[in-house]
Amino acid sequence: MAYKYDNQNIFAKILRGEIPNDTVFENEHALAFRDINPQRPHHVLIIPKGKYVSFDHFSKEASNEEIIGYIQSIGKVCDLLDISIDRGDGFRMIANSGQHGIQDVPHLHVHILGGSSCGKMIQL
Ligand code: AMP
Repeated sequence: MAYKYDNQNIFAKILRGEIPNDTVFENEHALAFRDINPQRPHHVLIIPKGKYVSFDHFSKEASNEEIIGYIQSIGKVCDLLDISIDRGDGFRMIANSGQHGIQDVPHLHVHILGGSSCGKMIQL
């Protein structure tokens, strides 16, 4: 079954400039902005600029250029926030996906959480 992308999701509106965001980093293929409801001192969402619902969708259908630009943006954001593990204290990266992943916004995003400990993995 094909992936279905909803053009009215809130991150699509952010990409179209219809609603504001607190941008941390941007390149040709990715936009990173602060989460409106931060769960840690640093809580940034990184989204691809293309219309992808989830990481599995992106990994199967994005071009190599999109994948490279998106993945490189993750390292850039970690450097900008000083949370990369070579010179900071690290971070947690989460990509909620679909119904069982409890994904609220159906446009691929990774959460980058840092600035304090994220605790042990996930609650079951
Ligand atoms: P998820 O449950 O993984 O889909 O996470 C969606 C995230 O988007 C939540 O952490 C929300 O706080 C965040 N969010 C929703 N609307 C906005 C917005 N306008 N700007 C920034 N973050 C948002």
